[in-house]
Amino acid sequence: LRFHPSVNLDILKFLAFEQVFKNALSGLPIGGAKGGSDFDPHGKSDNEVMHFCQSFMTELYRHIGPDVDVPAGDIGVGGREIGYLYGQYKRIRDSYDAGVLTGKRVDYWGSLARTEATGYGLLYFVKNMLDAKNISLKDKTLVVSGSGNVATYAIEKAQSYGAKVVTCSDSNGYIYDPAGIDLAAVKEIKQVRRGRIKEYAANHPQAEYHEGCTGVWTVKCDVALPCATQGEINLDSAKALVANGVIAVGEGANMPSSLEAIEYFQQNKVLFAPAKAANAGGVSVSALEMAQNSERLQWTFEEVDGKLKDIMANIYQSAKANAEKYADPDDLVAGANIAAFIKVANVMVAHGLV
Ligand code: NDP
Repeated sequence: LRFHPSVNLDILKFLAFEQVFKNALSGLPIGGAKGGSDFDPHGKSDNEVMHFCQSFMTELYRHIGPDVDVPAGDIGVGGREIGYLYGQYKRIRDSYDAGVLTGKRVDYWGSLARTEATGYGLLYFVKNMLDAKNISLKDKTLVVSGSGNVATYAIEKAQSYGAKVVTCSDSNGYIYDPAGIDLAAVKEIKQVRRGRIKEYAANHPQAEYHEGCTGVWTVKCDVALPCATQGEINLDSAKALVANGVIAVGEGANMPSSLEAIEYFQQNKVLFAPAKAANAGGVSVSALEMAQNSERLQWTFEEVDGKLKDIMANIYQSAKANAEKYADPDDLVAGANIAAFIKVANVMVAHGLV
């Protein structure tokens, strides 16, 4: 589910289409769908967000269920919103049904590592891609966009690999911190205070705040991770990244790069991790959350994270194997598309749907 003023049917259709193929790549027994609203949670009180979520669920409950469609969070939908939605579902249905929504808080049947899953999964995928070329993330300079769920945990995992992340952003502008992003400060601003990223510069004198989002791609880096939203990287941004020597691009957001940008990266031999493969960690742990809810158990963080790591390695291997078989061996866009398409097509044939 996405709550953002830009949400319209076309955006939901492309997200749903991508989700079907992403979920096929995950290797888990899940289909794919997308939903949302043009409601804007920015600047609303908790009470206003709660009332919106309750009204939304008063209609949505007819269409979802633990074995039907199972929503999870996306832009503008985090643990707070999922909590309000679940409360209203239970009120209407008078039922436990924890597997009806994922991304629940850990203290009411959410999964450990779900919050971290998309960002961590992105780094697991990118690490697999770089390991295959004997390139280490240690001491590499990373540019990350966004400062929401995906960006935050992508930065956290990248830093744990010894990389230096020098940027993050929100929809108003970006921070460049040559000393490396202070993630605790970002979490305090975005998660605790729900503030704006420009506040970071006030307590970090070496950091610069720049208005506007596209400038972030002009910052010199080895690896770029778009983690904010669709359409962030156009051809000009791709040219700026290549001119500055980027080695790899990993898509944390859904469809952040335009087709021209992707082609330009590929022509210039930039290793490219496409969204439907690279950001599949979030939905994969959502499926693991459903499994835990069904068996009324909660697995440890290490157990879930270990499974996530294996899932991302499998997705990488499957995209790579299909790229080698049907396309350029380094073309993970073709590899991921073909791997997912074959899975969906085979299932449709087996079920007599085509
Ligand atoms: P959040 O709402 O947590 O964060 C979104 C971030 O992107 C915020 O920093 C936000 O800034 C910024 N942003 C939103 N819209 C724009 C815009 N139009 N221009 C520039 N910046 C913008 O969302 P998530 O981190 O969950 O999602 C980020 C991306 O990752 C999306 O493309 C989503 O579809 C994708 N994704 C998310 C998954 C998940 O598990 N959450 C799973 C797979 C993919 P501001 O605060 O100003 O709004």
